[in-house]
Amino acid sequence: MAIIRFNALNETLKRKPVEVQEISAKRSDLYENKVFSLDTCRQYMPKEAYKAIKNATKHGDKIDRKVADQIASGMKSWAHEKGATHYTHWFQPLTGITAEKHDAFFEPIGEGQAMERFDGSQLVQQEPDASSFPNGGLRNTFEARGYTAWDPTSPAFVMGTTLCIPTIFVSYTGEALDNKTPLLRALQSIDASATAVAKYFDKNVSKVITTLGWEQEFFLIDSALADSRPDLMMTGRTLLGHSPAKGQQLDDHYFGSIPLRAMGFLRELELECIQLGIPVKTRHNEVAPNQFEIAPLFEEANLAVDHNSLLMDVMEKVAQNHNFRVLFHEKPFAGINGSGKHNNWSLATDTGINLLAPGKTPMSNLQFLTFFINTIMAVDAYADLLRASIASASNDHRLGANEAPPAIISVFIGEQLTNVLDNLEKVSKGKLTPEEKTDLKLNVVGKIPDVLLDNTDRNRTSPFAFTGNKFEFRAVGSIANCAVPMTVLNTMVSEQLRKFKIEVDALIADKKMKKDDAIFNVLREYIKQSKNIRFEGDGYSDNWVKEAKKRGLSNFKTTPEALKAKVSKENIKLLVDHGILTKEEVHARYEIELEEYMMKIQIEGRVLGDIATNHVIPTAIRYQNTLIENVSGLKDIFGTGFKKLAKEQMDIITDISERINAIKTNVDAMINERKKANKMTDEAKKAKAYCEKVKPYFDEIRLHCDKLEMTVDDELWPLTKYRELLFTK
Ligand code: ADP
Ligand code: MG
Repeated sequence: MAIIRFNALNETLKRKPVEVQEISAKRSDLYENKVFSLDTCRQYMPKEAYKAIKNATKHGDKIDRKVADQIASGMKSWAHEKGATHYTHWFQPLTGITAEKHDAFFEPIGEGQAMERFDGSQLVQQEPDASSFPNGGLRNTFEARGYTAWDPTSPAFVMGTTLCIPTIFVSYTGEALDNKTPLLRALQSIDASATAVAKYFDKNVSKVITTLGWEQEFFLIDSALADSRPDLMMTGRTLLGHSPAKGQQLDDHYFGSIPLRAMGFLRELELECIQLGIPVKTRHNEVAPNQFEIAPLFEEANLAVDHNSLLMDVMEKVAQNHNFRVLFHEKPFAGINGSGKHNNWSLATDTGINLLAPGKTPMSNLQFLTFFINTIMAVDAYADLLRASIASASNDHRLGANEAPPAIISVFIGEQLTNVLDNLEKVSKGKLTPEEKTDLKLNVVGKIPDVLLDNTDRNRTSPFAFTGNKFEFRAVGSIANCAVPMTVLNTMVSEQLRKFKIEVDALIADKKMKKDDAIFNVLREYIKQSKNIRFEGDGYSDNWVKEAKKRGLSNFKTTPEALKAKVSKENIKLLVDHGILTKEEVHARYEIELEEYMMKIQIEGRVLGDIATNHVIPTAIRYQNTLIENVSGLKDIFGTGFKKLAKEQMDIITDISERINAIKTNVDAMINERKKANKMTDEAKKAKAYCEKVKPYFDEIRLHCDKLEMTVDDELWPLTKYRELLFTK
C-alpha cells in the first residue's frame, strides 16, 4: 500500500506556518550584524591592523604575520560576542557546494586549565582533510596536499555558532583546487586590462572591478513530500511523474500572493541574509507553482559569488525550520519551467563609473561603446568556452528546452543599440572628417542615453542580453557556482580588451592617428567582425537553430559535447596566458566535470531502474490482480456474457502487461548499456556513452511508468504525485 505517500500527505496537510521570531530592530540596523566588516574591524583592532586589512581588501596588499595575529585576536573577540564557539575555513571545492571543517576556539592547556585560542596562523592557513574532494588526478600527479588560505577581500561572518572565514583552496604546489582561486585571478586580469582601456577616457581611473547581481530561482517543496520521493531525495529531481491536470497554464502563480508557509520561510531567510550582509531585496513567485526567486543588489563579483554560495547554504538551513526542502536543480519537474540563475554582469571604475552604462557626454558614451563592443567581440570569439562554463547534467534539461535560453550562444542588444552600431560601422577608414565627427557626436554617440531610456526591448529568449546598463548572462543554471561562468566571462573580456588596447595604440603610434579616430577605427572593424554572434529574434524558434547553423555558431546540446571546448588549444592558451589556470589544471577540471556528469547520470539510471522495478511494476501487478479478480467474478456471474461487460477491464489488463513488459525490457537494456560504459577507461568516451546510450532509456521507462500512474488506482500508487508536490501549500 502507498503508506509513505499518504503519511507524507497527512503530515503536510496538518502543517501550520512556522512563527518567525520578530526582531524589533530596524532592518538597516541589522544589516551586516553578523559580518566582520571593515567598519567592525576598526572597532576591534589597532590602527595598524585595520589599515592592513583595508589595503588588503581594496588593493590586494599582503598582510604580514604580526598583523595577522592582531586581526585574528580582534576577530575572535568579535565572534565571541556574536556567540561563536567554533571557527571554520569556508571554501568552494570543485563539487560546486561549499565545504567547511569546524574547529573549536577552546583548547585545554593542561592542569585543568583551558583557553580560547585563535591566532594569525589559524586565520591565515588551515589544512582540511582534502583527500575526499575531487581533484582530477592533480593530487596524484603532484603529490600535493591541499590547504585553505584566507581571502581578506571577502569578510568573515558568523553563521550559527561558527565564525566562517572565506578562503581559497590550493595544493602545496600551487594548483587551484577550488572555484574561487581562478575567479580571483580572472578578476585581477580584467582589472588590469579594463583599467588600461578606461585610462583612454579618464586618466584618474586606477582600478576596475567586476560587478555581479545574480537572481536565484528555486522550488520550495514540503519536506515530508520531498522525502517520500526516492528520486527527489537521491537526485534532486523527479525521474517520473505524470503532469498534473493543472500546470502553469493559468500563469496565476507569477507574482501571485506568496503562500503563508513560504512567506514565513522567506521572512526568516531575509532576516538571516541581512545580518550576513547579503543585500537581498526582491522576491516573487516565478512562473511555476511553488517556484520563487531571490535577487540581491549587485556587488563586487568575488563577494557576490560568496554571497550566492552562502545564500544557498543558509536557505537549506532555514528551510529545515519551516519543514521545506529547497530544490536548486535546474529541472526538478518535467513539463514545468525549470530554474536558472541569471548573472547580471558589468564593470565599474574606482571613480564610480559603470563602464556599461551610457553617460551624459559623447566622450563617456564612446567609453561605453568601447566596453560594450569589446564584450560582444569577446563572446563572439569565445562563445564555446562560455557555453562550456555553464554545462552540467542538470542544466542540460534547461538549455534548449524552449523555456530557458537555447544552447546556442548569441548576444541580444535591442533595436536602438543595433542602430547605433549600424551607424558606427559606416565611419570612414583612417582619420574621420570634421563633418563625420560632428554627426557622430550629435546623432550617434551623443544620443545613447535618450534611446536607452525608452529601450523597453526585453528579449527573454537570449542567453546573453544587454539590459540597459549591464549584460545579463541568462544561461547559468540555478545550482551552479557563479564563479565558473564569471571566471570565463571576465577572462575572455580581459583578453579582448588587451587586444583592443594593442590595436588602438598601434594606430596611434604607427599611423599617427588621434586617439578618438583610432578607437573609432578599431570599433568599426569589431562591429563588422562580430555580427554573427548578434541575434535579436526568438531564440526558441526552429528557424534560429537553422540560421545559427548557417552562421557557423555552435549548438552543443549536451554536457559531454559542450565540455570539449574547455580543452581546446586556443581556450587553454587563453586561460594560461592570463594566469588563470595551468594546462594541467584545465585538464584536471575537465576530467572532474566529465566524471561528475557521468556519475549524475549513473545515479539517476540506478534510481530510476529501482523505482520502476521495485515500486511501479509491483503496484501495477497488484492493481492488475484486482482487475483479474473482477473479470473472473463477472465470468462466474454472467457466464459467456461476461466478455461484453468486462471489455474495459480486459483492455487495461492487457495494457498493464504490455507496459510492465516494456519497462522491464528497457530497464534491462539500460543496465546493459551502463555495464558497457563502466568498462570504458577514457573519461570523455564514458561520459559520451552515458549521455548517448544510457540516458535515452530514461524517457522510454518514464513514459510507461507515467501511463501506469494514470491507469492504476490512486490509492495504490506509491509515489507522491506531481499535483501533491506542487500544489500542497
Ligand atoms: P529581471 O528583469 O532580469 O528579473 P531584476 O531587476 O530582477 O531584473 O534584476 C536585475 C539584477 O541586475 C539585480 O540583481 C541587480 O542587482 C542587477 N544589476 C543591476 N545593475 C547592475 C550592475 N551594474 N552590475 C551588475 N548587476 C547589476
Ligand atoms: Mg533577469
